Amino acid sequence: MSEVYGETAASVGVVAYRVDVALRDLTRDAVIAAIDEFDSVGREQFLAKYGFAESRRLFVVHEGKSYDSKALAGAAHAFLNGRAPLKATEISGGWRHAAGVLQRLGFDVVDRVPAVTVHELVRAIDKLRPATVASGPMLKQAVVLLWAIGRAQRGADRVLTWERTQAELIPLLTAHHRSGERPEGRPDYPIAALCRAGLWALDTSASVPTAHGDARLRRWFDEHQPDGGLPEPVYELLLSSGLARVQVVTAIIDRFFDDFDYAAVTKAVGLQGDSIADDDCTLSDEGAGNGDPKRAYQDLIEIVTSREASTRGKRRPVVGNDPIRLAAARRAVILRSGGSCENPACGKPAPDHTDRGHPVLEVDHVSDIATGGRDHPVQMIALCPDCHAVKTRGRSRHQLRERLLAVARDRHEAWTGTAAFAAQAGQASRHT
Ligand SMILES: [Zn+2]
Repeated sequence: MSEVYGETAASVGVVAYRVDVALRDLTRDAVIAAIDEFDSVGREQFLAKYGFAESRRLFVVHEGKSYDSKALAGAAHAFLNGRAPLKATEISGGWRHAAGVLQRLGFDVVDRVPAVTVHELVRAIDKLRPATVASGPMLKQAVVLLWAIGRAQRGADRVLTWERTQAELIPLLTAHHRSGERPEGRPDYPIAALCRAGLWALDTSASVPTAHGDARLRRWFDEHQPDGGLPEPVYELLLSSGLARVQVVTAIIDRFFDDFDYAAVTKAVGLQGDSIADDDCTLSDEGAGNGDPKRAYQDLIEIVTSREASTRGKRRPVVGNDPIRLAAARRAVILRSGGSCENPACGKPAPDHTDRGHPVLEVDHVSDIATGGRDHPVQMIALCPDCHAVKTRGRSRHQLRERLLAVARDRHEAWTGTAAFAAQAGQASRHT
């Protein structure tokens, strides 16, 4: 992971570039000459000749073509009178160095933010090794991540100054921790750990010290005052995809909270209500599942089912009060509805959409939780406001409920492919 985001820290925000001494004489003409050579020999040979690796993120875009920024800056030096090319070890890439110099010479430098998958993110979370106290893993890294995910969900700024980061995190860390967690209320510890895991990016070229248990870390943060936040690709994913958010939050809860009631933390950071699982349809046209709603439905069902299982038999059960499970279940039902009332006698499209582009439909538990209903799409249904009113208060509500129970089950089976499986299982049991 950390390799994937290696350059993120240097690309945060716009900074006043210090001129890299090695590059201060570079001219636009020399860079154009290097571009010409790049074009004539090709990328592979150009990089080999000057001894540079491929750029991962920062490219000069010139007349519609892109060029590895650091290699270009190093090679361009050969086109200055009486100069030799600079070696890869003699200059630094990044906005503060080669890329920044090229930009100041009037070139377009673009940052190709690498995409990150939910799978990579979940794996990085599983690999976190928080210190433990008697009751379980310390919560600070989880609190920092959940806070940042809450911000991503709201579309709040990804990067904050160190001062603001502290102002927001100290009260959260002080309020939400296991007993015995030390040092209390200090964001520098969890943020340093998350940096090392590739889950946080700081705007500084200095590396975060690995020291634990002394004042060195605090001094380092006081001295550098680094702006920071989630790495950009992580933030983008968590901003746009509700499915990713639910999967990542679930991974954090599983990794850190165990039987500790996480709902107070998720509430404090604004991760509550259906919007946890909602895609921002105004950002991604296709919404969840990369345009494959059935796949997204199945992923959401997996979360609902795993959360049902994980809250069973715990000392502090949150059954019936699991905001992540409920949000995932409701999102699944909305996906399944395709934006129209699921009452087969109606089928009307939703009367409007929300600001985030979601159909305005009521997601209803067909059976009340109190009478044994589940937070599970197999027992939930999306209804237009009219049908919802009939189902709640109408004289025909009892018959309607029976019908809707069957509809919810049938549609769920059709979307998960379990109908065929159930038929098979039924056949098998008849044979035995
Ligand atoms: Zn309806």
